[in-house]
Amino acid sequence: MATLHVEIVTQEKRLFSGEADMIIAPGGEGELGILPHHAPLLTTLKEGVLRVKQGGNEEYFTIGGGFMEVQPDHVVVLADVAEKADDIDIARAEEAKQRAEQLLKDRSAGVDIDAALASLRRAQIRIAVAQKRGTRRADVPDRRKEQ
Ligand code: ATP
Repeated sequence: MATLHVEIVTQEKRLFSGEADMIIAPGGEGELGILPHHAPLLTTLKEGVLRVKQGGNEEYFTIGGGFMEVQPDHVVVLADVAEKADDIDIARAEEAKQRAEQLLKDRSAGVDIDAALASLRRAQIRIAVAQKRGTRRADVPDRRKEQ
């Protein structure tokens, strides 16, 4: 079966490089599902969750927006910031969320509301993905207990 070669990079790091059956990305105009042989496309991405499906596996990444280039046999995601679900520090995201909420509550002079809203949104997405990761782990039966 045809696959897509997928690269997910930021200016700081390469998060993923490998084959996939499909990716689902947070396009500026809504979710985009990309399969092999997709028509060439260059699009912006908004902050959200990017999923890479391969066989029965699905890897989750959070991204803070960016660009995606699609060719029939490969996809390159250039993200502003991105994290692999397993690398998300949930306590740090909770702190960032509280900080942003406090700034939005205070609304004192000099507070950059747009920046605070964007920070809040990034934190909410990170928390949601990290919780999903926890749920998926909890879904896996612990075989040792069954024996
Ligand atoms: P914080 O206030 O906690 O730094 P932020 O939203 O301001 O959060 P960003 O500017 O989006 O942080 O990201 C800075 C770097 O830190 C990026 O490399 C990003 O991947 C990483 N990062 C941010 N928050 C987390 C987190 N909760 N877990 C893991 N990595 C994170």
